[in-house]
Amino acid sequence: MKDIAEIRADFPILSRSVYGKPLIYFDNGATTQKPQCVLDAVDEVYKSYNGNIHRGVHFLSDMSSEAYENAREKVRLFINTSKREEIIFTSGTTGSINGIAFSFGERYIKPGDEIILSHLEHHANIVPWQMMCERKGAVLKVIPINDRGEIILEEYYKLLSSRTRLVSVAQASNALGTVLPLKEIISAAHSANIPVLIDGAQGIQHGIVDVEAMDCDFYAFSGHKIYGPNGIGVLYGKEKWLYELPPFQGGGDMVDKVTFEKTTYNDLPFKFEAGTMNYPAAIGLACALDYVSGIGRENIELREKELLSYATLRLSGINGLKIYGTSERKISTISFHIDNIHQYDTGMILDKMGIAVRTGTHCAQPVMDRYGIEGTVRASLCFYNTKEEIDVLADGIEKVKSMFV
Ligand code: PMP
Repeated sequence: MKDIAEIRADFPILSRSVYGKPLIYFDNGATTQKPQCVLDAVDEVYKSYNGNIHRGVHFLSDMSSEAYENAREKVRLFINTSKREEIIFTSGTTGSINGIAFSFGERYIKPGDEIILSHLEHHANIVPWQMMCERKGAVLKVIPINDRGEIILEEYYKLLSSRTRLVSVAQASNALGTVLPLKEIISAAHSANIPVLIDGAQGIQHGIVDVEAMDCDFYAFSGHKIYGPNGIGVLYGKEKWLYELPPFQGGGDMVDKVTFEKTTYNDLPFKFEAGTMNYPAAIGLACALDYVSGIGRENIELREKELLSYATLRLSGINGLKIYGTSERKISTISFHIDNIHQYDTGMILDKMGIAVRTGTHCAQPVMDRYGIEGTVRASLCFYNTKEEIDVLADGIEKVKSMFV
């Protein structure tokens, strides 16, 4: 693995300062920073070969189309599926989940049917299902969590019934960091022939994701959370589902033949890619995946584990600081609250020290309600962070505390 100085040098933004202090970026759960190679790849599209994909016979369009399809191939290999038809580009995790919630609802859902989610979900994996349930008269069922922030599997097993049509859960919680027991969740659902969608927004960047081994039916993630550009995401779906499901958007490129009387759709994966896709971002995402593979996903996992242990040790040693989310299995995210200090005050003071953390509900209000709190401060770490930065955070928190005595 490259050494940490080399890795950090790959990310131009990491060398900037904020309010005269070196930037310490601990908001990787919200979005990650981009290595130079990703910036260059996107720049190169616009500088050298920008042309709308799949449309022109001209040189530039051909070049862009080829780079876009190569990006699809990179994604296919990265998440390990044998079929390129199963890789759909979207605008992000939110776009992917909304798309499936709509299509699945239209095709399969009847009044009284049930969808199972967990109490840990991001709003992006709650609201689209709620909207679909309202349209179709279906019902949401929620797997409860314990005080450590882990889902209670026995309760999940009880929720599975002959009315369950789909289970949709996160790979890891963005609010608490908990990694969900996907193997158990998927195998129990499958033994009742129920498909499972995994929201991989907080999973894909932290280790190896192999959708075939995982055997999920759908998997969604965002490019910007894995060091790629904004505005691009992926929806993986098993071919049998994607073949049966209706498209979630209509427009150019997703069609085969259009008349005013009837339209027939394009083959997979294009049936789900209506309009001009964000091909420069897809090309940038492919480059980000190469970058991550170059660092090594096992290396990333190990390094982030080490950072998480160190940060947990340092932060739990601070008097009056409570960590929310204490599962044994976590991504490198620490959510905390300091006695009698509002999370926004903590976040704003840390910001003045050059430390970027997230404060609030993290788009996971039900998680906050579960603990009866308004929100937390969240430090989400990744492989380009260092123990020295964690020390600065711990000292910074002590300073915040001293300002409120
Ligand atoms: N799910 C989870 C678990 C997330 O953390 C996020 C982003 N915070 C999303 C979904 C939504 O991702 P995006 O905004 O990139 O669509």
